[in-house]
Amino acid sequence: SGRAGPGASVTPDGLLAPDDRPSPDDRLAPDDLLARHRAVAPAWQRLLYAEPLELVSGSGNRVTDSRGRTYLDFFGGILTNMVGYDLPAVREAVERQLARGVVHTSTLYLQRAQVELAEKIARLSQIPDAKVFFTTSGTEANEAALLLATAHRRSNQVLALRGSYHGRSFATVGVTGNRSWSSSSLSPLQTTYLQGGYRFRSSFRHLDDDAYVDACVADLRELLDVATAGDVACLIAEPVQGVGGFAVPPPRLLAAYAEELAGTGTLVISDEVQTGWGRTGETFFGVEASGVVPDMITFAKGLAGGHAIGGVVARGDVMDGLAGRGISTFGGGPLAAVAANAVLDHVLDQDLQGNARRLGAVLHDGLHRAAERLPVLGEVRGKGLMVGLELVGADGYAPDPDAAAAVLEATRERGLLVGGGGLHGNVVRVAPPLTLTAAEADEGLALLVDALEEVDAARR
Ligand code: PLP
Repeated sequence: SGRAGPGASVTPDGLLAPDDRPSPDDRLAPDDLLARHRAVAPAWQRLLYAEPLELVSGSGNRVTDSRGRTYLDFFGGILTNMVGYDLPAVREAVERQLARGVVHTSTLYLQRAQVELAEKIARLSQIPDAKVFFTTSGTEANEAALLLATAHRRSNQVLALRGSYHGRSFATVGVTGNRSWSSSSLSPLQTTYLQGGYRFRSSFRHLDDDAYVDACVADLRELLDVATAGDVACLIAEPVQGVGGFAVPPPRLLAAYAEELAGTGTLVISDEVQTGWGRTGETFFGVEASGVVPDMITFAKGLAGGHAIGGVVARGDVMDGLAGRGISTFGGGPLAAVAANAVLDHVLDQDLQGNARRLGAVLHDGLHRAAERLPVLGEVRGKGLMVGLELVGADGYAPDPDAAAAVLEATRERGLLVGGGGLHGNVVRVAPPLTLTAAEADEGLALLVDALEEVDAARR
């Protein structure tokens, strides 16, 4: 095997055999995998950590790297894992499908697992007369939703929130309000970015909840007049901004925007790629907390336990309004669909939304307490099992991306994986699988606080 370099042996599951494992402080990749990666991967493709990890196996809520080191996963893959790494129901469903030999059929053929999955998602969405189209990613899901909205409204004008992230395709970078992810795009859409997504650095941040929402709505009113022709196709928003750093708008914001737009025909798209399936603890889809029933919901990430699936669930008339035909070669394919059914059943049967609420509270409480004595923590925010830590400089406000990078390294050294993010790269994100146990919540919280203390102390 090439993985371990000359003389080293590799077990069938890709781990270095025990005798060939480098000592934990040996920082060289076993066979220069990083150098090989750099030679063939785009320069802009992001890798986490100065010495990137190669994850080779997972069990429960933990993953193991190619050196044999195990980590508690407080990032849930990249929110792709809601149910742990080796849930028997998911593995058995996928293995049964593999044994049948049909791993791909495209949307040209009927597929029982896909129909069952669509029925469940249509019901859970609470969208009247809902229809579902499956894709292979969140980007494609938003691409489909934007295509539907612009076709339905015959307009390319879109409202999005500042600080948003909706994907890396031509249309979705054009509604992404974060310079580091949307650079060099000449979008086919005309997007106006509204206030309300990332409050910590908004010019309205000093206002209380009600006054803040009122200011956002007044701004929307003005923007409709000065920046649009009045025929806006849609408003696309994440209920809690994901890549943007788990920023949470006040509960009333989306309803206030929807009310302002009522009667204009503007469609509301809730991007639930990160917030869906109960992760926020309060509701199954994040948008429900606002009381708004959207016209479309887009989803992906954790639905199939890491298998590639995404999709859009839309009002029937919006979905059916697209002229011409459409297929997806891989969207909602059999392996992903059977895995997704098993994941979704587990999430519902085990009330993982309730677990996200209970253990989310443990993490939020612990980190709020830490923030009282650690000045590096400018804000602790989020919902359920989405906790964002805004890291700031000595003035208590300036974004400190170096501190975030240091926390990522310090947690990794302690055997804990967390994520980065934020408009300025200064946010640490915590989003464990929804199967997190109470003991793991305590363990991960202690490791994270210890790492934050180290980073905070190093700056004094
Ligand atoms: N929308 C949101 C809210 C996301 O967080 C992401 C990915 O992080 C996407 C869309 C894009 O999904 P994908 O990376 O599967 O294309």
